[in-house]
Amino acid sequence: MAYELPALPYDYAALEPYIDEATMKLHHDKHHQTYVTNLNGAVEKHPELGSKTPEELIKDLASVPDDVKAVVRNSGGGHVNHTMFWQIMKPGGGGTPTGEIGEQITADFGDFETFKKTFNETTAKQFGSGWGWLVFEGGKLKIVTTANQDNPISTGLYPILGNDVWEHAYYLKYQNKRPDYLAAIFNVIDWSAVAERSTAARSAHAAA
Ligand code: MN
Repeated sequence: MAYELPALPYDYAALEPYIDEATMKLHHDKHHQTYVTNLNGAVEKHPELGSKTPEELIKDLASVPDDVKAVVRNSGGGHVNHTMFWQIMKPGGGGTPTGEIGEQITADFGDFETFKKTFNETTAKQFGSGWGWLVFEGGKLKIVTTANQDNPISTGLYPILGNDVWEHAYYLKYQNKRPDYLAAIFNVIDWSAVAERSTAARSAHAAA
């Protein structure tokens, strides 16, 4: 079965003024769609791949046939990454996370402001296209970056938050000012969605 572009869970303009409508349209309808289309091209060559979820595909790249491994890594990663990205943002988001996820951030980074500063500084330094991530590793939160559309899932880490620092994600509005985009995006983070991913990560870890 072919993979499909998920609908954006809010309007294209919903994240204004932090993420502009034109960027959202291009980013979702063109960039994300292209990852889905290219991933489906790989599945056409190897139909058995289509029985796996996109996460399962990139979690076990070693089992993907060589002739489509790069496509699955890049476009499967692109599909997984962007599907998560739309879900962890919402209009009227932001603020300081509370509950278990808020406590875990405080425990692992000292306080929320320190976490945010460290996350943005680390992600700003990612050279070229890539992502900044908040992942669980051995029950602790950690900040990592990846190049291109690589997802921490491929190295056994579960991302609960990710920020896209490809230029297509911010150049129309922020041009070369990646740190301004990184700062702005914390105004639209949906911490309840991040908390849900955190709960999923904890139970996966406990089951492992
Ligand atoms: Mn992107």
